[in-house]
Amino acid sequence: MIPGLPYDTELPERVGVLVLGSGLAGCAALLAAAEGGQFAVMLEKTSEIGGSTVKSAGLSAFAGTAEQQAQGIADSVELLRKDLLEVGQHRNDERLVDLYCEHQLETYDWLKAHGVRYGEVHAASGQSAPRSHPTDTTAMLVHLLKAAGRLGARVVLDAPADRLAHEGGRVVGVDVRTPDGTRRVLADSVVVATGGFSQNPDLLARFAPQMEHALRAGGAGCEGDGLLMAWQLGAGVVDTPYIKATYGHFHEMHPDEDGTGILAVYKGAISVNREGRRFVDESRNYKEIGDRALAQPGVTTYQVFDSRVLAASSDEVPIYDFAGRESSGLLVRGETVEELEERLGLPSGSLVTTVSDYNAAIRAGTPDPLGREHLSGSVGTPLPLEQAPFFAHPSGSVVLATYCGLTVDTHLRVLDVFGEPIDRLYAAGEVIGGFHGAGYITGTSIGKAGIFGRLAGTRAAAEESELEW
Ligand SMILES: Cc1cc2nc3c(=O)[nH]c(=O)nc-3n(C[C@H](O)[C@H](O)[C@H](O)COP(=O)(O)OP(=O)(O)OC[C@H]3O[C@@H](n4cnc5c(N)ncnc54)[C@H](O)[C@@H]3O)c2cc1C
Repeated sequence: MIPGLPYDTELPERVGVLVLGSGLAGCAALLAAAEGGQFAVMLEKTSEIGGSTVKSAGLSAFAGTAEQQAQGIADSVELLRKDLLEVGQHRNDERLVDLYCEHQLETYDWLKAHGVRYGEVHAASGQSAPRSHPTDTTAMLVHLLKAAGRLGARVVLDAPADRLAHEGGRVVGVDVRTPDGTRRVLADSVVVATGGFSQNPDLLARFAPQMEHALRAGGAGCEGDGLLMAWQLGAGVVDTPYIKATYGHFHEMHPDEDGTGILAVYKGAISVNREGRRFVDESRNYKEIGDRALAQPGVTTYQVFDSRVLAASSDEVPIYDFAGRESSGLLVRGETVEELEERLGLPSGSLVTTVSDYNAAIRAGTPDPLGREHLSGSVGTPLPLEQAPFFAHPSGSVVLATYCGLTVDTHLRVLDVFGEPIDRLYAAGEVIGGFHGAGYITGTSIGKAGIFGRLAGTRAAAEESELEW
């Protein structure tokens, strides 16, 4: 339990805005609702705040920021919009893409005004300009919750919402599980910010059976509760066919594995399967690489790289912290490619041939047979893997987030299966669908949680009170 946050041990009877879930979407909604003048209360199912947000790599996708300018990165909201639609294969709800684009910079300013700080910006999957802004996510949530607390908002831990209470054609609150049964908390409006269902194997089996061999990570409480509660009231659900696993994670959850994995491929590594063969253009979106990895023999693959790639390590960004992995003993090392091949138990000569063919094509400037032209997306140029020693990171695919979810309109009101708003019910963050479409750009889940969480809190706070106080 983080000290200094506005905790309450008792459930309130009645509130203005009731927020379910304490990830970024919930914390942003709580603060925005409090800034909107409402008595706002957050219920968190577990005994800790943060959900998947605090387990994440902490990268937010914004375009046109001071950090980008300071690094001389040319980017624009138009380019961000284009990337979102192209990576989403135009299956995204364009209105939600526009909503993100319209409010991203003002939300970034709002977060910074509340004390959030971002480090060096990096390029990552699906970005045609570097726009992954790293931050310490726990510190970010603490800033937001303390600010909300100063405005009278409260947080109740170990308070799992069980069912939405719906009366007279509108949501009137939530039934919360308690040691003695359930207790109803009445609210003028409810914001569902309960995250995704990466920790619910039954829902994953229902919507994404192809993830059977994928690992699972994310907040312990991320089991799809909000999705099910809203579904019971007739909410629509979209984008379930686009649940993807992320590439780069340790093939088995090692005790030192924090769930973040590394993406050495984006700094020049190649990825090979158990036959020592490359199987994908490594510059592609890590979800796409994740899909391809799940189809490889034995599911396990290896990111293979040399000392030059290791030197591009950054301890600020977990997915690029190769040196940290080495010191934790999570990399396999060989003084030569041959030795590495032997240590990995790959067929004799397989990795040596793969690396030498890869290097030869780069040196000769001939097209890569798998189509690789860049390090990541359309950024960077691959270099030969030639500087000893050599390293391999056993890598699998893991479901970090579920990307699909509730249908919402541009006010973040939850829509039923016929597209009608469910009165007084809002949703934000990973629990909503429609925004990413068929593909995901790094940083847009945290981005979406902050931007839409804030908007949902503001909108929910604007609902007129119909309760007798
Ligand atoms: C290892 C990892 C790395 C990632 N890296 C990135 C990244 O760098 N950039 C990016 O954009 N995205 C990343 N993601 C995804 C991103 O972290 C999430 O999509 C995002 O943080 C979701 O925020 P949220 O507020 O919607 O949900 P969460 O942060 O998951 O919060 C939801 C909260 O709701 C609570 N809850 C659930 N059910 C109930 C209930 N019934 N009652 C009350 N509370 C409930 C949960 O316990 C949880 O605390 C990563 C995810 C993981 C796991």
